[in-house]
Amino acid sequence: MTHVIDSKTIQHPHNHKSCLQQALHVAEQVCHQKGLRLTPIRRRILELICTSHKAIGAYELLDIFHAEDAKAKPVTIYRALDFLMEAGLVHKVESLNAFIACLHAESQHKSVILICTQCHNAYEMDAEPIYEQLFALSKSIQFTPHYLTLELQGICSHCAA
Ligand SMILES: [Zn+2]
Ligand SMILES: [Zn+2]
Ligand SMILES: [Zn+2]
Repeated sequence: MTHVIDSKTIQHPHNHKSCLQQALHVAEQVCHQKGLRLTPIRRRILELICTSHKAIGAYELLDIFHAEDAKAKPVTIYRALDFLMEAGLVHKVESLNAFIACLHAESQHKSVILICTQCHNAYEMDAEPIYEQLFALSKSIQFTPHYLTLELQGICSHCAA
């Protein structure tokens, strides 16, 4: 089991600039490999999501984007978000109706999103065995699983200290 979370990102303060650069670099590589186009708008939305480790909502993104480009329409943001999610570059945090950047988009992973209720940072942790167990359990009662999302709210190590 590989841990998606790396100690570098869960510890604050850390050099967030390198997280941001890494995420954008990986995004370019992933798009290149998959033959997808990371247009300037898609890249900018990803960059905005990467601004911090807090999940960011579509309205908040629209506000920032609108300030930069008065002609920006909600549909532009939603399409860019759909693209980024499909490419695996961004994950939706369902319980917050918001988005986080994936810091490991280059690798296949099934993760749980850990949400700190104090600092509101959200991180991924690999949870593949849990997914497999739940899929197997559901199949055992003839239920065909399609989509599972796991989110865990709690207190991060920084806030607990
Ligand atoms: Zn960071
Ligand atoms: Zn991810
Ligand atoms: Zn915290």
